[in-house]
Amino acid sequence: MKTVTLINGDGIGPEISDAVVRIIEASGLQINWDIQTAGTDVIAEEGTPLPARVLESIKINKVALKAPITTPIGMGFRSVNVQLRKALDLYANVRPCKNLPNIKTRYDDVDLVVIRENTEDLYAGLEHKIDENTAESIKIITRKASERICRYAFEYAVKHKRKEVCCVTKANICKLSDGLFLECFRNVGAEYPKIKQKELLVDNLCLQLVQDPTVFDVLVMPNLYGDIVSDLTAGLIGGLGVAQGANIGKYGAVFEPVHGSAPDIKGKNKANPTALLLSAIDMLRYLDEDKYANKIEKALYKTFEGGCFTEDLGGKMKTTEFRDAVIMNME
Ligand code: ATP
Repeated sequence: MKTVTLINGDGIGPEISDAVVRIIEASGLQINWDIQTAGTDVIAEEGTPLPARVLESIKINKVALKAPITTPIGMGFRSVNVQLRKALDLYANVRPCKNLPNIKTRYDDVDLVVIRENTEDLYAGLEHKIDENTAESIKIITRKASERICRYAFEYAVKHKRKEVCCVTKANICKLSDGLFLECFRNVGAEYPKIKQKELLVDNLCLQLVQDPTVFDVLVMPNLYGDIVSDLTAGLIGGLGVAQGANIGKYGAVFEPVHGSAPDIKGKNKANPTALLLSAIDMLRYLDEDKYANKIEKALYKTFEGGCFTEDLGGKMKTTEFRDAVIMNME
């Protein structure tokens, strides 16, 4: 039996992870969940939202399923999500964005992937006040991290039979930092002559994404643009409730939805578990459990086809009702 670290998270985290664990159980696949609590709830007892035991568990198991964790504001702690990605060197944040059956959106045939560099850029945490009226944030872009993420994007394209990789920067303004990222894209891209290559400025990408997202395939970009663009692309397929993600590194992977802990709907049995479920389906494929991944995906699609939706998608179903509908649709 495979062992997977499970971080239940906070906010809507426990509700959606409970739903996903039960759906996986119902598929017949047995997973030994190594449950690790983290976030605001553990600070009082352990002095940190990300205790070392959580990192240890992921290092041992190599795979984790993670529900969202709130970043405490004004408490002096760095985001758990950012810390986790950094500590485990999960350098590639992969966010596929594809239409789901029967979810009405502005565009059909959206099928793109945002690949976001996950370890540096303005997320390096180098921020300080110069004086009372001036603050400075330092954007770090290195050749090592840029080449690594661009290579990941090209390898992803090869593996998933994608035709094009588009590099997204603001190299006209951040000439040195984004300029270096773009240079790395061109250097690495030269090794992949069969993959079409495109370069866009992030503002222009946003314009084109809302005008016709169907022309895009694989997008690779620095950390901050990836954060923003993947919320935009989530909106193209139905919103944050259905946007999946994965953080991949050389030594392990953490699968988590794009959305945060949504404290506004916490404990109301309203959250859509789909984003975490799609992330878990990807995780099962990563674990070579394709049979179960396909079975769950089919049940999820059938649920949407049957018109079952949570409130965020215009439906009336509670989290637990949606969970039960997916389980009922399992063949
Ligand atoms: P955090 O501070 O953890 O990022 P947030 O509330 O600022 O949390 P998100 O959690 O990413 O940001 O989501 C923004 C809004 O989208 C939420 O307030 C919620 O209303 C909605 N939302 C996010 N995820 C879901 C979901 N799985 N199901 C339903 N609604 C969701």
